[in-house]
Amino acid sequence: MKRIGVLTSGGDAPGMNAAIRAVVRKAIFHDLEVYGIKYGYQGLMEGNIFKMEVGSVGDIIHRGGTILYSARSDEFKTPEGQARGIQQLEKFGIEGLIVIGGDGSFRGAQKLTERGYPCIGVPGTIDNDIAGTDFTIGFDTALNTVIEAIDKIRDTATSHERTYVIEVMGRDAGDLALWAGLADGAESILIPERKDDFSEVIQKLQRGRERGKKHSIIVLAEGVGSGFKYGERIHQATSLETRVTVLGHIQRGGSPTASDRVLASRLGAYAVDLLLAGKAGRTVGIQNNHLVDHDILEVLKKQHTINEDMYKLSQELSI
Ligand code: ADP
Repeated sequence: MKRIGVLTSGGDAPGMNAAIRAVVRKAIFHDLEVYGIKYGYQGLMEGNIFKMEVGSVGDIIHRGGTILYSARSDEFKTPEGQARGIQQLEKFGIEGLIVIGGDGSFRGAQKLTERGYPCIGVPGTIDNDIAGTDFTIGFDTALNTVIEAIDKIRDTATSHERTYVIEVMGRDAGDLALWAGLADGAESILIPERKDDFSEVIQKLQRGRERGKKHSIIVLAEGVGSGFKYGERIHQATSLETRVTVLGHIQRGGSPTASDRVLASRLGAYAVDLLLAGKAGRTVGIQNNHLVDHDILEVLKKQHTINEDMYKLSQELSI
């Protein structure tokens, strides 16, 4: 293999830049040529492709977002779109592709691999919802952003004796809500993987009040439903002054944490190692602090699961 490509796709995540940097530098270290593809699969089909050098990835390790930009493309889900993409890769003489993104992006990489084009997937998403890795790039940064926000809201909650419902990202995955709720001592954590028990939430609020607690924090993942509606239900059931904050896209941005930069550097470099070893259709990940790789199809088939012990602990600590 002499020439590889790299793209970022789907939702951006802090640390994607550190991953791009690792791919480019590791590839050049091994005398490979590297081409960057802008705007994900959309840019791939359009041939938005340029050669990257060591300096192309200078001064980006600490930046959020992605210098390669990201996009979503329905056309790429079709066989015609994938054929267009492969045509471009062949035109540029690119022999292997590294895709940094979430499970949707991995589906695209799987389709290309099926058509004989070697791809490696690097998990980059704040949701931490990819099987085969303990952590995805961006999760730790998003978690810290959420915690910083909740800490601030807690000051107001305490001063005004209010109950706060805080809606965090996570349509299908509750990791961000679970970890943030545990790290912030939330009274209740509501995640899509668990059916929420409204009466238990209300009982906890009431028990807290009985022992003199005047404020409460409830963390809700967006997949559970609207934070505003949930806040209204709580107010109706308890008459407590209830406020709602939806953190929204603030959770996606910002400078990656040390942990995400290190993870991104390790995973990006490992993806290059796999291509050099002649592997295709694999995803990279970290498990028990060891670099691992798995078959993309297997990873896509597996349902994301939450850490049961952590969920149980969060309940035990918020009695
Ligand atoms: P994420 O990678 O963050 O999960 P998306 O689900 O939006 O983000 O997927 C990103 C892109 O990956 C899509 O816009 C599409 O171009 C491509 N993609 C998703 N699913 C498929 C599929 N089944 N086949 C081919 N490409 C896909």
